[in-house]
Amino acid sequence: MSQNTLAPPATGSMAKRAADLLSALIRIDTTNTGEPATTKGEREAAQFVIGQLQDIGLRPQLFESAPKRANVVVRVEGSDSSKPPLVVHQHLDVVPAQGDWTHPPFGGDLVDGVVWGRGAVDMKNQVAMVLAVIEDFHRRGVKPARDLILAFFADEENGGVYGSRWMVEHHPELFRGAQEAISEVGGFTAWFGDHRVYLVETAEKAIAWMRLTVAGSPGHGSFVNDNNAVAKLVTALHRLEQHQFPPRLTGTMRDFITQLSQVTGEKVDLSDIDSIKDLLEKEGEVGTAAVAALGTHLNLTSLEAGNKANVVPPSASATIDMRPLPDERDAAWKMVERLVGKDISIERLNDQRGMESPDHGPIFEAMASSLTRHDPGVPVLPFMVPAGTDNKALADLGIHGYGFTPLKMSSDFHFWKMFHGVDERVPVSALAFGTEALTDFFTTY
Ligand SMILES: [Zn+2]
Repeated sequence: MSQNTLAPPATGSMAKRAADLLSALIRIDTTNTGEPATTKGEREAAQFVIGQLQDIGLRPQLFESAPKRANVVVRVEGSDSSKPPLVVHQHLDVVPAQGDWTHPPFGGDLVDGVVWGRGAVDMKNQVAMVLAVIEDFHRRGVKPARDLILAFFADEENGGVYGSRWMVEHHPELFRGAQEAISEVGGFTAWFGDHRVYLVETAEKAIAWMRLTVAGSPGHGSFVNDNNAVAKLVTALHRLEQHQFPPRLTGTMRDFITQLSQVTGEKVDLSDIDSIKDLLEKEGEVGTAAVAALGTHLNLTSLEAGNKANVVPPSASATIDMRPLPDERDAAWKMVERLVGKDISIERLNDQRGMESPDHGPIFEAMASSLTRHDPGVPVLPFMVPAGTDNKALADLGIHGYGFTPLKMSSDFHFWKMFHGVDERVPVSALAFGTEALTDFFTTY
């Protein structure tokens, strides 16, 4: 037994084990502030994970991309070496916990069958479930159907610069042969009215953050100035804001809408995006996310110019968060260049690909049947996430990514609000379902 590890119980369920591991992980504060100097805890969390893995005879490797920015990778041998390995990746960092919490965000309290704390759903839950399942395999002498490459990344919450992206750039050999990966934001219960389904992420929009800067002639506010930087910026922003990127259904969203209409019984015309939008807007949190996946969108997020009412500043700038559909990334950048004009410089702050993985075929079938085996008859739908995960980094290696962190939840549990929200928590019953579904998936696929 290595230092700092959590001894497995002699008996007891995987759910209990996953809950204990989750509590322990939440107590290691791995807040990612976005600033390397104040981000903390990733090394401690990585060492905790390493300890658990070593205790069952595995040989995890630690990779530090920068001091204390720790990533862990370990290979678990499967029973059929002719199958390509599957990457199972999760991130160790969490976003800051602000606001008033019912239970302390880094306490990992277990209260009335619910584990509370930052990371309970995003995504120390999956770290805990994967560890519990692999430990159970070891105890029972079970092997997964194929090799698993377990990866525990730093820095997902700030774009993966010190985590997945660094690992893919500096250690691509660790992922050699892998064609598919599973990670967060999928595999959980979603509700459309009274209809219960599971959503599996098969696609992600691209990320295109930018800073626009324009220079002009500074001067006294009382003079005539026809080269005013603020005015030029505002004009360009107005053109951007007015532009409508044409809405479109990608393959994933076409399949999602078609299957959703079968579930709800509401007829949809796939050629009429406005009616699809109307339909989705009635569907609460999931509908909101789905509407964002119907086209390329952008939001103006910050402005900077001047500091005095009677002084025209020499320059003005703005930041914009654009989320192109996976196959519209290049076209979207070109459109922005055209709309803002030559006078304005465009700095790409964050430019990450989208992805669209096959939403049918063996891996999707295996994920779906591992869910329905424990929740019979519930439809499993593919879904495009408007935000991003570490799947984007692995996609650069040609690996198809999926969101598959199985959790079964009731309709009164506001799951989507848990992500980065106050009072993040997860029921142990959801972890019970998740460990069973992951066990099935790893042993059958
Ligand atoms: Zn996450």
